[in-house]
Amino acid sequence: MMARVSQEIIERVRDASDILDVVSKYVDLKKRGQNYFGLCPFHNEKTPSFSVAPAKEIFHCFGCGTGGSTIDFIMEYEKIGFVEAVQRLGEQYGIEVQLTQAKGGKELFSNLYKLHEMAMTLYHKNLFSEKGKSVLSYLSDRGLEKEILEQFKIGLAHETWNELLTLAKKKKMSNETLEKTGLFLKTEKGTFDRFRNRIMFPIFNTAGRVIAFGGRALDPEDPAKYLNSPETPLYRKRDIFYGLHSARQPIREHGYAIFVEGYMDFLQLFQAGIQNVIALSGTALTERHALQIRKFTHRVVLAYDGDSAGIDASVRAGYLLLRFGIEPGIVQIPDGMDPDDWVRKSGADELKEAVDKAVPVLLFHIQTKDAKSLPSVQRSEFIKDVVSQISGVSDGIIRDDLLKSLAQEMRVEESDLLKNMNSQKQRNLKEPIPASSRESNEIPLTSKVQKAQVILV
Ligand SMILES: [Zn+2]
Repeated sequence: MMARVSQEIIERVRDASDILDVVSKYVDLKKRGQNYFGLCPFHNEKTPSFSVAPAKEIFHCFGCGTGGSTIDFIMEYEKIGFVEAVQRLGEQYGIEVQLTQAKGGKELFSNLYKLHEMAMTLYHKNLFSEKGKSVLSYLSDRGLEKEILEQFKIGLAHETWNELLTLAKKKKMSNETLEKTGLFLKTEKGTFDRFRNRIMFPIFNTAGRVIAFGGRALDPEDPAKYLNSPETPLYRKRDIFYGLHSARQPIREHGYAIFVEGYMDFLQLFQAGIQNVIALSGTALTERHALQIRKFTHRVVLAYDGDSAGIDASVRAGYLLLRFGIEPGIVQIPDGMDPDDWVRKSGADELKEAVDKAVPVLLFHIQTKDAKSLPSVQRSEFIKDVVSQISGVSDGIIRDDLLKSLAQEMRVEESDLLKNMNSQKQRNLKEPIPASSRESNEIPLTSKVQKAQVILV
C-alpha cells in the first residue's frame, strides 16, 4: 500500500497555506484588479498570462491552461507527487505531515463540513423566524443591521435539547460524524445539542467554509457567556482568526490588520467600513496565529478591550508579535469600553483616528504601567521583564531599536540593558526549555520537571 497523508493533515495544510505566498516565491507577480499576474512558469511567454486569484485560492494560466490549487502548483512546478507536495507545504507552514498506511477519512471530512453547513443554515433561519424576533431586535438595538447578519450568517440556537440532533438524524449522519463535529454533548442520558439558547456566530476557515461556532448566551444568568466549539478535526483554535476569510483582501490592501477580541467588535467594525479587521475566536493570541497573519502583513494594530484585562492581553500579544518580526501598535480604547461600544457611541471616525495613532507596544507598556514613576525596586523588575521580552525578538535590528527606546524612556544606560539581556540569556541556556512546552498556550513546566527531563534526555 502506498504511503498516504490523512485527510485531516491535508485540510490543515490547505488551510494554512496561502496561494499568493506560495506562488510569489517562484513567480514575480503584479497586482491587477483583484488578481495577480506574472510570466507563466509552465510555458514560454513574453507577456504575462499566468494569474493568481487569492480570493479563490487558485492559479490559472490563460496561455497554456494549467491551473489549480496551491498543492497543484507545487506538484507541477517541482515535478513531485501529491504526498510530497503536501509535505513541502507542511514544512513551510510548520505543520508536521505524518504518513500513514491507513485509508484517509475523506468521507468523514465531507460529512463534518456538511453537518456544520446544515447547522449554520438552521440557526440562521431561526434568527429570522417568528421565534427569533426578540433576538433580532436585540441585535438591531446593538447596531447590527440585517446585511451584516446575513453576510456572516449570524444565527440563533433555540432553547431545545435536540433541534439540530433531530435534523442530523433525519439526514442520516453517522454517530461518528455527530461525535466528531463537537456540535453535540454525549452524556449518560444520551446525546444533546451543545448550543442552546444562544446567538450563534459561525466560524469560517480561510477558504470560507464553516468549521465551528461561537455562541453567546441569551440568558444573562448563564455562567458561560460565550461557548465555543471544542477542538475537532476541522477546528483548531490556535490557528483560526474569526473573519479572516473576509478580511484578508482588505488587510493586503491596507497593509495592516486590526485585531479585536470579540465577535461583536468584529461585526461592528466591519459594518462601519473598517474591514481589515479580525477577531481572536475565544482564545489568546498564539505563535500559530502570528505565523498565519505574517502571510498577509507585517503590521498589526491591536484594538483590545479598554479594561485592565484587555490592556494586559494586548501587551502580551504585542511582544509575541514582535518576536515574529511583526510590528504591533496598540490602540487605547477610552473608559474601559470595548471597540464595539466605542463605535456605537462615537462612530467609526474616532476609532480610525486612534488606529492611525496607535502606540508602539513598548511605549504603551510603559505608559499603562506608569513605569517611569515606579519605586526603584519595582522599576528594576519592570525593566528586567521588558528586557526578557525583547531578548526573544530574533530580528537584530528590531531588538536594538527596542533596547534603545527602553534605555531612553526609562533613563538607563543601554549598555546596562545589554549586559542584563546577555546574563538572562546565559541563565536560559543553562536551563533549556523542552520543545513540548514552547507553545505559548501551554503551561510551562516547572523548573524541577524541566531539569528532570533534561537529565532523562
Ligand atoms: Zn502557461
